[in-house]
Amino acid sequence: MNKPLLPEPPPLDLDRSALFLDYDGTLVGIAPTPAEARADDELRDLLRDLLVRLNGAVAIISGRRVADIDHFLAPLRLTVAGLHGLELRRHDGSLVQCAAADDSLERVRAAFRSFVARNPGTLLEDKRLTVALHYRLAPSAAEEAAVLAARLAEESGGTLRLQQGKMVVELLPAGRDKGRAIEDLLALPEFAGRDPVFVGDDVTDEAGFLVVNRRGGISVRVGAADHPTEARRCLADIGALRRWLHASLAR
Ligand SMILES: [Mg+2]
Repeated sequence: MNKPLLPEPPPLDLDRSALFLDYDGTLVGIAPTPAEARADDELRDLLRDLLVRLNGAVAIISGRRVADIDHFLAPLRLTVAGLHGLELRRHDGSLVQCAAADDSLERVRAAFRSFVARNPGTLLEDKRLTVALHYRLAPSAAEEAAVLAARLAEESGGTLRLQQGKMVVELLPAGRDKGRAIEDLLALPEFAGRDPVFVGDDVTDEAGFLVVNRRGGISVRVGAADHPTEARRCLADIGALRRWLHASLAR
């Protein structure tokens, strides 16, 4: 596979940047199951330092629930866009947005549940506002899972959209994505007027890269791209991202 030759990002300008970070596959390795992704102490300290030095302009942009990210980072609390932007919560605890549960997800829940019963190793993750089907431990189920998810999205008549990720398909209410989450956060006082920097690793992060590029910010992909990417900068892996952040703090 041809790897795009993207340059590394310049050091982060702590006085002018707003930093947006994906979580899984970007800040921590992808765990075998979604529940096993706790932050280590070094990461927690690093994020705490960034929160202080960026004057609050740092946020996690994740497909997970805000409550899950809080749990992984505890006792640290950051601004988090969860569920691809369906939830937004600031680091001071105030809630910016929380979408209502969508009845059309009931059919998805039932269909995924019966899929999991037929395909050992697959896993249903019910995040209330979205429903995900993981097949990391059952890769042979990938195609059937993708076909099922695409059919469910189509049958929703536009109320739900399909989000593909690494070894996961997810159905969520249409209209929100990581790019819109970043735009909403940039309207808050602690982020406004700063240049957005977004770091991510997966297909779900592409919407965020587009928004950041449009606003003249810096889009950074972690790892070699296994899909076409809009990111204009690249860091080789999670370790390289952490070194880049540490180096930016040390300047
Ligand atoms: Mg990721």
